[in-house]
Amino acid sequence: MQTKTFMETPPDLHTDLSDIERVIWSHETDTGPVLVIFAGIHGNELAGIYACQRLSKKLSENTDKLEGSVYMISGNREAIKMGYRYINRDLNRIWNEVTEGVKANPELQDDIEWEESLELLQVINTIVDKHKNTHRDVYFCDLHTTSAQSCAFILFNDTLENRRSASVFPVPQILGIEESIHGTLLSFINDLGYPAIGFEAGEHNDPQSVLRTEAFLRLYLHFLNILKLKLPELQRCEEVMSAPSGNLDEYYEITYHHFVEDAREFDMKKGYQNFDPISKGDLLAYDHEKPVYAPTDGLIFMPLYQSKGRDGFFILKGRSPFWLEVSSVFRDSFLNKYLHFLPGVDKVGHGSFTVDLRVARFFVKEIFHLLGYRVIRKDEQTLVCYKR
Ligand SMILES: [Zn+2]
Repeated sequence: MQTKTFMETPPDLHTDLSDIERVIWSHETDTGPVLVIFAGIHGNELAGIYACQRLSKKLSENTDKLEGSVYMISGNREAIKMGYRYINRDLNRIWNEVTEGVKANPELQDDIEWEESLELLQVINTIVDKHKNTHRDVYFCDLHTTSAQSCAFILFNDTLENRRSASVFPVPQILGIEESIHGTLLSFINDLGYPAIGFEAGEHNDPQSVLRTEAFLRLYLHFLNILKLKLPELQRCEEVMSAPSGNLDEYYEITYHHFVEDAREFDMKKGYQNFDPISKGDLLAYDHEKPVYAPTDGLIFMPLYQSKGRDGFFILKGRSPFWLEVSSVFRDSFLNKYLHFLPGVDKVGHGSFTVDLRVARFFVKEIFHLLGYRVIRKDEQTLVCYKR
């Protein structure tokens, strides 16, 4: 009798997760790459946890075939128990404070998520220390789902290493999330010097989200040469992961971020799915009962359909692979030396500039993007640009 392949076994979305371990599963080898997987950083996004549990069962039967180390780490364990996105504050927005220490924000100290972040930090440090002086490549990924219906997609801070890690997957890729959302775990890991990509599998409670996550993880293990898939398995994983993204463009950039003060007062118009096209002037939501209109054309992204969270919605624009290619050529080029000659641009430190928008109007942001800078708006008139 033929054994069932993993995709044919439907996921069980009712497993009790109240005693989920910090390390869901791990396997260490002496050589080969290292893949670190985070799941459940948001406690109501359980597809990643279920996918890790399913996959680890299979991997446990084949540990002799693994040519690299794998760590599966659970995120906000207290919130997972309750089924909430978070308890006191978003665990995926506090990593600037983790870097700066609690002195930067003493209020944090009593929060559940502060405790969680310190435990996670310890796990991350242990893994990083173990591999710091070896030649082994270490990769991180973070598993999420969305409150809106969605196909799977990958998002990451726009560094060349992240682009390389993400480029092998057959789903839409969203670049430059770090310019809109600060204090994420991915940014923290990037700043440690490792590639880190986020995988969004689909809607929170869609069983397909579990299967897409499992397919993503199997593909990742395959592309890292930790556990090779046979051709039919490879094709099946790609099919499962990419359905139903159809013929969406490959790369997107966030062009607008609607920040929300209080999600309970934010009412997104029903029925939007990720990547639905919108036009400038479309009524998208009500915030404190005031209508919110689209400030620009584009594609709607991560519309908020839950009462927790600070991101009302984003608007995306497609970015051509050609432009990406050009920018990767220019990143380390001599042009970086001449940026301060541009009107309105001042060098303020090694690899960092301010841009006075009253003077520099045209294409300044594009030029800095092209050369691999992260561009953040400091106030009405000033941009701050850092080398990524
Ligand atoms: Zn999430």
